Amino acid sequence: MKNEKAVVVFSGGQDSTTCLFWAMKEFKEVEAVTFDYNQRHRTEILCAKDIASELGIKHHVLDMSLLNQLAPNALTRSDIEVKDGEEGELPSTFVPGRNLLFLSFAGVLASQVNAKHIVTGVCETDFSGYPDCRDVFIKSLNVTLNLSMDQDFVIHTPLMWLNKAQTWKLADELDAFEFVRNRTLTCYNGIIADGCGICPACKLRKKGLDEYLEGVVS
Ligand code: ZN
Repeated sequence: MKNEKAVVVFSGGQDSTTCLFWAMKEFKEVEAVTFDYNQRHRTEILCAKDIASELGIKHHVLDMSLLNQLAPNALTRSDIEVKDGEEGELPSTFVPGRNLLFLSFAGVLASQVNAKHIVTGVCETDFSGYPDCRDVFIKSLNVTLNLSMDQDFVIHTPLMWLNKAQTWKLADELDAFEFVRNRTLTCYNGIIADGCGICPACKLRKKGLDEYLEGVVS
């Protein structure tokens, strides 16, 4: 039934895997969509495939190589260094319009598979300056998608106001803490679970994990 069906934008990382577990609890039927934009690490697509198959989730992998053609960046090109943005500038991993494109395609897919709900792990709390992770953007896009397809989609963002420690807490509440910790890929160097430990994504993930394990999470 349409009202009980969701499409989850899924990368195989900590955030979207937590969202996948959240959606499985919230909705009767869940499908996942992963965008292949020639990620620097093919492991990311394989990791997403593995997780979806283990959880028995129907998984769509859509070709978005167009994105790399439009906007070469540190996530897709090994000759561009991954680094945090200096004061007032965006990090080198920023791809203009990425969430706009991903969520629009997720909307088209949701309309095809007759799902009312779209779930994404975007988050304003740790948004590193990515404008299309902000709540106001998601709300605006929700209206646009509905008008463009004459639908009544609801975009869900369970992580929008959580910090990384609270995201670990949510995974734990969903009985998915060990799964998320051991099976997901967040690391820019393509290492599953706790990762390389030195890239910006690993540092952020580890900081949240340590805070959660030390019990300093609200
Ligand atoms: Zn790393």
